[in-house]
Amino acid sequence: MRNTAQRKEILEFLRSKRHHCSAIQVYDAVREKIPNISLGTVYRNLGSLLESGEIISVEAVDKCIYYDGFVENHAHFVCSGCKQIFDFPIEPEKRRAINDAGFSVDTERVIYYGTCKNCLKK
Ligand SMILES: [Zn+2]
Ligand SMILES: [Zn+2]
Repeated sequence: MRNTAQRKEILEFLRSKRHHCSAIQVYDAVREKIPNISLGTVYRNLGSLLESGEIISVEAVDKCIYYDGFVENHAHFVCSGCKQIFDFPIEPEKRRAINDAGFSVDTERVIYYGTCKNCLKK
């Protein structure tokens, strides 16, 4: 199978999931369709997809990197209890101070670390 097909499969998988996946989770899922794909190939493709801005990555509490196929600007909330990552909208007003200072923002990464609603109930 050609490299572009592998890349496309990884991208489609991440876009089809509305949650954030580790490289291992991507590898396990893509392997169902491309049995001979290696973990190294998955990492390489994830790197190239990140570089082209087709996916984004989030660093969780455990320093593990999770990949996200949903690239519109959004904030992440990482729960230190269940380790889940949640998406939240970003209010554009937050950028105003930067814009007012005459700077131009290309990408915005907002990550909150804390405890999610479900873990707070426990
Ligand atoms: Zn939680
Ligand atoms: Zn996200």
